[in-house]
Amino acid sequence: MTSVQVRMPADFPGGFMKRFWFATVVTVTLVWSSAVQASEFADLAAERLSAYIQVNTQNPPGNETRGVEFFAAIFDEAGIAYETAESAPGRGNIWARLEGGDEPALVLLNHMDVVPADLRYWSSNPFGGAIQDGHVYGRGALDMKGLGIIQLQAFLALHASGVRLNRDVIFVATADEEAGGAYGAGWLVENRPEIFEGVGYLLNEGGGGTVIGEDTVFSVELTQKVPLWLRLIAHGNPGHGSTPQVETAVTRALRAGDRLATTRFEARAIPAVQAMFEGMAPYQTEQIAARYADIASAVKDPEFMHYLQLTNPGHHALLRNTCSLTGMQGSSKINVVPTEAIIELDCRLLPDQNPDEFIEELTHIINDPSVTIEKIMGFTPAVSTPDNPLFQLIEETYDRHFPGSVVVPGVATGFTDSHFFRDLGIVSYGFSTTVVPGPDRRGVHGNNERISVENMTRGTEVMIDLLERFTRY
Ligand SMILES: [Zn+2]
Repeated sequence: MTSVQVRMPADFPGGFMKRFWFATVVTVTLVWSSAVQASEFADLAAERLSAYIQVNTQNPPGNETRGVEFFAAIFDEAGIAYETAESAPGRGNIWARLEGGDEPALVLLNHMDVVPADLRYWSSNPFGGAIQDGHVYGRGALDMKGLGIIQLQAFLALHASGVRLNRDVIFVATADEEAGGAYGAGWLVENRPEIFEGVGYLLNEGGGGTVIGEDTVFSVELTQKVPLWLRLIAHGNPGHGSTPQVETAVTRALRAGDRLATTRFEARAIPAVQAMFEGMAPYQTEQIAARYADIASAVKDPEFMHYLQLTNPGHHALLRNTCSLTGMQGSSKINVVPTEAIIELDCRLLPDQNPDEFIEELTHIINDPSVTIEKIMGFTPAVSTPDNPLFQLIEETYDRHFPGSVVVPGVATGFTDSHFFRDLGIVSYGFSTTVVPGPDRRGVHGNNERISVENMTRGTEVMIDLLERFTRY
């Protein structure tokens, strides 16, 4: 709603009744107009997603500048100012700001790139954006062009309402999330830090609803395991394959790898994980529900931990630091003993773990001075807490639109761009207003990815409601 114009009838009586009439008309106009506009923006969401899916931003190579052009045209039409920046040729990023009062600003973050699609396994064109059987089909429908459009439509609705906001709201669409964000969110934080000045809150992918039994369960992601990618390099004397030595680079690498593979790092439940397991307890088999409800004690039982790793490796991984041995490299010739042998490790740390101390722990476990450890990549640990007005509002919003639904704080084993912002001290939640059935979730990075039209419509309405309340004076 852009303006409220109320004209008094010429013969309208003065005094109390006049004020009453005026107030009623203004209120009714406000509520009616905002509802009409909200549904207008919600109704457009599925069609807009279909158009966005047709913008091919498969990464590699990304070509997110095509996505920038898509959003720029929409902002031009809406009369919203925006800025863009390429981190490399074709790797575009775009952001737009609705200005408001002094409360800490809110960022709506979404990535424009999508993972590649293997056409052989799709029943329709992954970049066709077909709308059929009540669904929008295509790469990115769930990860995360669908949520990007929901954020966009809510952002446009907020702008169109013309209501004065208590805080800035910033829409940020980035490149390169699927490859780590170095050309997208990470690049913006380094090169355009002014975007995030005064920002207190950020909503990103990583959360959302699903149906378990009779219940709709929403996860709001607070934190993630922290990746630490390492290269172990074992050194030794080179030689000919025909004359074995007692120890070589390869035998040392194998021994180091074996020591790590058979190590189970200390099991413990950080507070966010405890809250998550408690929330998930009612949906477990009777056998383990009690263990989930008191996971802090359960982690001390090695038998339970072993059972959990066998039956639910994803949940198990939230309860300790882990290292997967993922790559090995020795000699490139079968008859040459190399001077170096390499093992690559994908370690994922609990969010409160100091990475340097962890590397020291690995050095002790390997216990071999001829093996050195090199860091390939690592993030700094950071957690967002549920102890603030936005989390409360999220809970209330879910409850209003999905009565009886359950909200569970989430901790992810994988990572999104949120870590860049948690590092800056910005409260960053994985948050979505959609409810995606279990089988459809396999479409994320998989085949025949789709989202229901109803999710796009209702998801936008819920997002608009949340934004309106969070920006209200
Ligand atoms: Zn994603």
